[in-house]
Amino acid sequence: MTDTLTPVLSADWGTDRAWTLKAYKQAGGYSALETALKMAPDDVIAMVKDSGLRGRGGAGFPTGMKWSFIPQDNPKPKYLVVNADESEPGTCKDIPLMMATPHTLIEGVIIAAHAIRAKTAFIYVRGEVLHVVRRLRAAAREAKEAGYLGTDILGSGIDVELIIHAGAGAYICGEETALLDSLEGRRGQPRLRPPFPAVEGLYASPTVVNNVESIASVPSIVKNGIDWFGSMGTEKSKGYTLYSLSGHVARPGQYEAPLGITLRELLDLGGGMRPGSELKFWTPGGSSTPILTAEHLDIPLDYEGVGAAGSMLGTKALQVFDQTTSVVRCVLRWTEFYKHESCGKCTPCREGTWWLVQTLQRLDEGQGKDGDIELLLDLCENILGRSFCALGDGATSPITSAIQHFRSEFESGLHTPSRELFPPAASTLF
Ligand code: NAD
Ligand code: SF4
Repeated sequence: MTDTLTPVLSADWGTDRAWTLKAYKQAGGYSALETALKMAPDDVIAMVKDSGLRGRGGAGFPTGMKWSFIPQDNPKPKYLVVNADESEPGTCKDIPLMMATPHTLIEGVIIAAHAIRAKTAFIYVRGEVLHVVRRLRAAAREAKEAGYLGTDILGSGIDVELIIHAGAGAYICGEETALLDSLEGRRGQPRLRPPFPAVEGLYASPTVVNNVESIASVPSIVKNGIDWFGSMGTEKSKGYTLYSLSGHVARPGQYEAPLGITLRELLDLGGGMRPGSELKFWTPGGSSTPILTAEHLDIPLDYEGVGAAGSMLGTKALQVFDQTTSVVRCVLRWTEFYKHESCGKCTPCREGTWWLVQTLQRLDEGQGKDGDIELLLDLCENILGRSFCALGDGATSPITSAIQHFRSEFESGLHTPSRELFPPAASTLF
């Protein structure tokens, strides 16, 4: 498919003080906004729709289509909410983007707010990353002083206020409706959908909730056009994207490349596996997506290709593990995370993740009981599709896929501790 990187969002990450308005403008920043403000809102929506941009938060829902769902005959105010609560294990693309070039996101916010006719926009940032909150607030101040935010932006008659809101550090607040509850000042718990936020979101008003990378991709589409965007990626998964490569790789980090690149190609670009490491398993999109193995090195990393391999592209967090890693211990770590982050609203997830951890702990310690593997699969079956939101479903993905690919390791857990089979001293990760 390709063996080259396509830096667009990350093009200026190495520039001196890239986060300042001065540096951003020197690189051509805010010229897309000037173009977009001269366009009718519906034309901006049509452009984003025709570009084929799909949500970069994980689900891949078409961005322009989501914008077009905002009912313009509804007299209530419209809101734009940027989901910057990046928390999926292994995912670390939005935080570097906001730190390096916050104005890319702010320019995208103003264009998107203009398109959906929202006068108020929020960026909901996860609470732990206070440095990002500070950087975004400083950038928003600069943008306002320069006339890009506030009333009558650049003399266009368009008003957009931007509020940077810090969450309190709960994974569930990355779920869009829990995020909205949290933004309204309530305990963050998912709401029943439908109604989707586009119809009834923040303060029961029409609301677009988009991921940071999705919104930050909009200025480059306005500036360079939909043909340029469509020249990268695949027919159904267009454009470039940020992949987070981590684990037993020579050069972990952010790699911006077209959708449809393969892990083999990305590994080549990232210096390969560490010396002495052989690929054992990997996640295409964080721990909520089923794990894959060395057999899947050549699948295209796009929504269709990863789906056909029995997993999901998700957040494009490629966590790569070598032969020194115990699958059982790794899956236990992830499941402990889901148990801790379960909001407790529904029984299958609240109780099920507790039971999953108990069972996995026994297997990790070599004290599994006959039937424990079947018990794990049964618990997963009773969580998947019966949970209120995607967290419960996601918790089952690594377990069922790990048993499918590495059943013998779970069987070893009936009598041998993982630490004997995979001594922690031999691994650089656990
Ligand atoms: P989803 O497929 O249910 O929805 C995706 C988006 O499309 C939402 O904004 C939703 O409102 C909208 N949508 C879907 N159908 C709609 C309709 N009929 N009308 C109007 N809008 C509609 O996915 P989700 O549950 O919102 O998110 C799950 C994804 O989140 C997973 O794929 C996972 O990869 C990702 N995730 C990301 C992180 C992170 O840190 N970025 C963390 C956890 C999970
Ligand atoms: Fe809460 Fe888990 Fe139920 Fe989601 S699946 S509502 S996180 S208990």
